[in-house]
Amino acid sequence: MRYGPDKLDRRGSLAKDLKAAGDPQTIETIGVIGAGTMGHGIAQVAAAAGYRVILRDLDRDTLAQGIRAIERNLAKGIQLGKLTEADRDQTLEYIHGTTHLDKLYQADLIVEAVPERLELKQTILRELESGSDRQFIFASNTSSLSITEIATSSRHPERVVGMHFFNPVHVMRLLEIVVGEATSPETVEIARQVSRRLRKEPIVVKDVPGFASSRLGVALGLEAMRMLEQGVASAQDIDKAMELGYNHPMGPLKLTDLVGLDVRLNIAEYLHRTLASEAFRPPEVLRRMVNEGKLGKKSGEGFYTWKDEAEDARRARSS
Ligand code: NAD
Repeated sequence: MRYGPDKLDRRGSLAKDLKAAGDPQTIETIGVIGAGTMGHGIAQVAAAAGYRVILRDLDRDTLAQGIRAIERNLAKGIQLGKLTEADRDQTLEYIHGTTHLDKLYQADLIVEAVPERLELKQTILRELESGSDRQFIFASNTSSLSITEIATSSRHPERVVGMHFFNPVHVMRLLEIVVGEATSPETVEIARQVSRRLRKEPIVVKDVPGFASSRLGVALGLEAMRMLEQGVASAQDIDKAMELGYNHPMGPLKLTDLVGLDVRLNIAEYLHRTLASEAFRPPEVLRRMVNEGKLGKKSGEGFYTWKDEAEDARRARSS
C-alpha cells in the first residue's frame, strides 16, 4: 500500500484502517537520531508512511545535509515516475529537523542511527530516559553491536530492540528485527508492525553476532574468496555462478567490492572471534588486498577495476 496523495488526504481514515489491521496506534511519532547515511533514509521512509518524524543531528549543517539527501531521493523518485510531487511535499512536511534532544520526547518510537560505538548508543539512551518519563520504544540500527549490551544502559530494557535497516533505506526491502535478552514480545510485535507500515519485510532474529544477514552474506563472500585463491574459477565466473544459477542480483565478490574490502575484513575478524567458527577466518587474499590498498569500488580496484568511480571520488575530494 503506497501512501499516495489521495491516501494522505484521507489520513484520518487510513489511520483507522491500520488500527483495524492491528497497527499499534501508540506509534504515531517516530524520532530518528542521526541524519547520516542511514538516519536520513529511515526518516524518509517513516514520513512517506505517514508517521510524524523528528529527525535529530548534532548541528544544523549535518541536519541540512540529511534533509538535502532526502530531497534528492524524492526528486529521483519523481523522475522515475514512482512518486508524485504531492508525495514529495507530504513526506517533507512530516519531517521536523532539530538539533535539540528534548524534541525527541514527543516520539513513541526512537530509532538511533549514530556511529557504531557502544558507549555512544548507551549514552544517548541514558540521556533520553533521564530527561523524560515518557515510555518510548528504543530501536538501534546497529549492524553489529549487541542489543542486550545496549539495553544494559536502560531502565526499560524490555523496550529496547534492534531495527536493522539496509542501505539505501528507501530501496532495500529487508528489516532485521533483533531481539535482545530482555526485549519483550510486545516490543517485537510493535517493531514488526511498524516495519510493515514502512513497506519493509521484517525478519526476527536472535541477538547473536552478525545477526542473520551479515552472518550469511559474509560467509558466502569469504568462501568465494577462498575459491578464487584455490583457482576454482575467475572472479567473474564465481559471481556468475550465484547470479545466474541462484538468482542473486549480484555475485559475492562484486558485492564485497561495493561494501569495501576493509569493511568486510573487519566484520570477518569480529565474527571469527565471537562465533569461533573457521568459516569466518579472513582469507589471505582479503588481507593482502586490504594491505595493498585495494579496497574495492571506493579505491578503484578490488576483485574488479572501477576506474570511473575512483576518478569521480578523486574529483569530488579535490573540488
Ligand atoms: P553516518 O556516519 O553516516 O551518520 C551518523 C550520524 O549521526 C552523523 O550525521 C552524526 O553527526 C550523527 N550523530 C553522532 N552523534 C549524534 C548524537 N549524539 N545525536 C544525534 N546525531 C548524532 O553513519 P551511518 O552509516 O548512517 O551508520 C549509522 C548506524 O547504522 C551505525 O550503527 C551503523 O553500523 C548502522 N548501519 C549502517 C549501514 C550503512 O550501510 N552505512 C547499514 C546498516 C546499518
